[in-house]
Amino acid sequence: MARKAASQRKAKAGLARRPGRRKPAAARPARRKLAPAPRTKNPLLEPWTAAFGLPPFARLSSSHFLPAFERALADNLRELAAIARQRSAPTFANTIEALELSGPALDRIASVFFNLSGTDTSPEIQELERKLAPRLAKHSMRIYQDASLFKRVASLVKKQASLRLSEEQVRVLERYHRAFIKAGASLPAGARRRLAAIAERLAKLATKFNQNVLADEQAFLLVLDADDLAGLPDALRAAAAETASARGLPGKYAISLSRSSIEPFLQFSARRDLREKAFQAWINRGANGGKTDNRKLVAEILDLRAERGRLLGFPTAAAATLEFSMAKTPEAVRRLLMEVWHPARERALKERDALQKSITAAGGNFRLAAWDWRYYAEKVRKANFAVDEASIKPYLQLDNVIAAAFDVAHRLFGIVATERKDLALYHADARAFEIKDAAGRHLGLFVGDYFARPSKRSGAWMSSWRDQHRLDGEVRPLVVNVMNFGKGAAGEPTLLSSDDARTLFHEFGHALHGLLSNVTYPSVSGTSVERDFVELPSQLYEHWLLQPEVLRRYARHYKTGKAISPSLIKRLQRARNFNQGFQTVEYLASAIVDLDLHVLEDIKGLDVDDFERQTLGSIGMPEEIVMRHRIAHFQHIIGGYAAGYYSYLWSEVMDADAFGAFEATGDVFDAKTARRLYETIYSAGGRRDPAAAYRAFRGRPPTTEALLVKRGLASDRAVRH
Ligand SMILES: [Zn+2]
Repeated sequence: MARKAASQRKAKAGLARRPGRRKPAAARPARRKLAPAPRTKNPLLEPWTAAFGLPPFARLSSSHFLPAFERALADNLRELAAIARQRSAPTFANTIEALELSGPALDRIASVFFNLSGTDTSPEIQELERKLAPRLAKHSMRIYQDASLFKRVASLVKKQASLRLSEEQVRVLERYHRAFIKAGASLPAGARRRLAAIAERLAKLATKFNQNVLADEQAFLLVLDADDLAGLPDALRAAAAETASARGLPGKYAISLSRSSIEPFLQFSARRDLREKAFQAWINRGANGGKTDNRKLVAEILDLRAERGRLLGFPTAAAATLEFSMAKTPEAVRRLLMEVWHPARERALKERDALQKSITAAGGNFRLAAWDWRYYAEKVRKANFAVDEASIKPYLQLDNVIAAAFDVAHRLFGIVATERKDLALYHADARAFEIKDAAGRHLGLFVGDYFARPSKRSGAWMSSWRDQHRLDGEVRPLVVNVMNFGKGAAGEPTLLSSDDARTLFHEFGHALHGLLSNVTYPSVSGTSVERDFVELPSQLYEHWLLQPEVLRRYARHYKTGKAISPSLIKRLQRARNFNQGFQTVEYLASAIVDLDLHVLEDIKGLDVDDFERQTLGSIGMPEEIVMRHRIAHFQHIIGGYAAGYYSYLWSEVMDADAFGAFEATGDVFDAKTARRLYETIYSAGGRRDPAAAYRAFRGRPPTTEALLVKRGLASDRAVRH
């Protein structure tokens, strides 16, 4: 379910981008020719001549970034000044399309830099990021507060009816107008200055916040000896040995705070003391005191966000950011969260009782604690459904799951993927695949970067180096998926947990949204949609992973090559809703805390720990469950989007309902439904209103019922009413 993606992807959805990240105007090939560049050895500033227009990774060093940025920022300002100074009256072409095509170098350089800072950072890159984030935020504010540019855009909005714009052009125009309004372009000079200062400061703080989380993750390693491995299955032992040897500890075993390492450890380790130790480190990232403690930063970030909201005329930060989402208001978000919270909590309490029973039955004389949940859940799952992670994992080889993700896309959308081993990428673990359509035409390049390493941010996300559009000739995308799986031992295949496999499908769903994009304008390309719509293509894609016809073909035992048995598939299907109370509560608690943090009006002196405790207390959070992301390391919302974590659930209402369209035909690959899905969702980017796009696919709006059924919570709700 909800995984780091929307906010961990290069922030693209909507114009309220992450400070310091790309702005919509900073886009793709320029039409106007700039003064020729002085001769330079900086590969970032030379034409990118690698295959597919890939960044010049082979010749790139971190010292190239700063001068390249300097140059690109200056060029971009010159281009924008030229647009603003034009004598001719504003038209869609001379203003909006010109903005769309401005800043190509800046966009390219920023995409390389921020992809690298997320996937393979270093002290130099981190220092640069601290320097650049506020500068880019300042640059963006300078553009969107520019009075002449704003005047041109506003005059187009005023006479919009007479412009005879297409639906896509209207959306693009609205986006630009919104970006100017949100930067304060229509406000008095004093407010504008303050908003610019806030943007700069927030960019600085968010960078620090994310770097602190990474520092805490790098600092912890649970190093184990052979006699500490009780309960751990072979695959996990092998992965732990590989982690240890990668960190210079051959002969030892190590568990890191990467989700793919610690979650299976918590599921299988029979050592309660070690589970507690690892779990405490995991949930206290960003709250360990000292230089990397995030709690004071959080209070300042929230305070600044609230002030920004007020300056823009909103009562709270949440109201300001939600205005341009499908949900529209904090109240609508809360309604959905609470509608699911009540049945989820009831289910979780029942699950808790079952786990306690299992402890007692096994002679345990202690109360279930948070670090026990996953361990006993595995035992109960095995007892009730004859399924556990250890029996599934040998069937989930990374290469086969990648092949399955491609094959599902082939059957739905006709794409064909071919690995390209001849391309220079940024890290030896990254793999490139050329994607073609059914007619053999090039669609884009897909890069998968699957393994955890200390230089990589935790989580999983999709991002890009270039997005599709055809405003200035057909431009095809370069898309990246980043994950944090534990690598198999040398000579052995990498095995995934079922959660890892779902993550891979999830991120590939985002990748398809980018690769299949078929729009005219860069700023509505691919995943540049409303934030609470962006998880629809990714979460919907997860549904295909567990289809028997997919599993039969791709879930093959790594030693025997034998396909997973029909009976194991059946048991897997039956166990699908097992532990859903826990998972839903874990996620919702984070979403509710996020919303509550961003509807605060008075933040002065906020104590983050107190706030967390009180909010969770007020909704009756079960003591044995810890929110999926605690505030001090909640990168989605503190280092990313305010009040944005609900968007997974908002999108899930749609994905649960949307998959029903396939099920109703009796064929999960039904060609007609797949064609409609391609046309209305996967290829459509943000060219139309998301609610209208969904209706065009489904013929009606979604209902929450499908979501509750999917999570197995529907009956609980019926009982409650
Ligand atoms: Zn996602």
